[in-house]
Amino acid sequence: MKIDVKPFIREGELIREDDVRLNRIAAAVVDVESLEDVHVEIKATYQEPLIVVDGTIDTVVHYTCSRCLTAFSRPLSTDFHQLYTTDANRADDDIRWVEGDEIDLTPELEESIFLAIDERPLCREDCLGLCPSCGVNHNESTCACETETVDPRLEALRGLLSDTPSE
Ligand SMILES: [Zn+2]
Ligand SMILES: [Zn+2]
Repeated sequence: MKIDVKPFIREGELIREDDVRLNRIAAAVVDVESLEDVHVEIKATYQEPLIVVDGTIDTVVHYTCSRCLTAFSRPLSTDFHQLYTTDANRADDDIRWVEGDEIDLTPELEESIFLAIDERPLCREDCLGLCPSCGVNHNESTCACETETVDPRLEALRGLLSDTPSE
């Protein structure tokens, strides 16, 4: 999504909505398979030399559950706020300098989504995950190895505790 700087500065204000593809997010976040088209609505105002952009971002994220690896989807909505400047001396970490004739909002849109996205997504809050021994999905069925994998560890822990020398 891009803003044409010259006509925007003449007008002083711009309201726009667009559907954009942001494919880099799925490539960068392990448990994100893909994002549907991202619906972006923005309002930009020019307060010389600042360009203030506010808006909303809506999409649907296709995740893989980080515990049971099941695919599921969840809507994502977040706000968008970004400052740009046409004056290089005013630019800093939060205010991006606009060098050319257009502003590409893509990096800032991606950053807003990164902040809102679920980095350890769960298909449901109480997802039981996969059995570490046989790989069975515990949301769907139980398995015999369950108790066998838990008990020996508890036994070992008890052993360690009782072996602690008391001085
Ligand atoms: Zn799950
Ligand atoms: Zn099992």
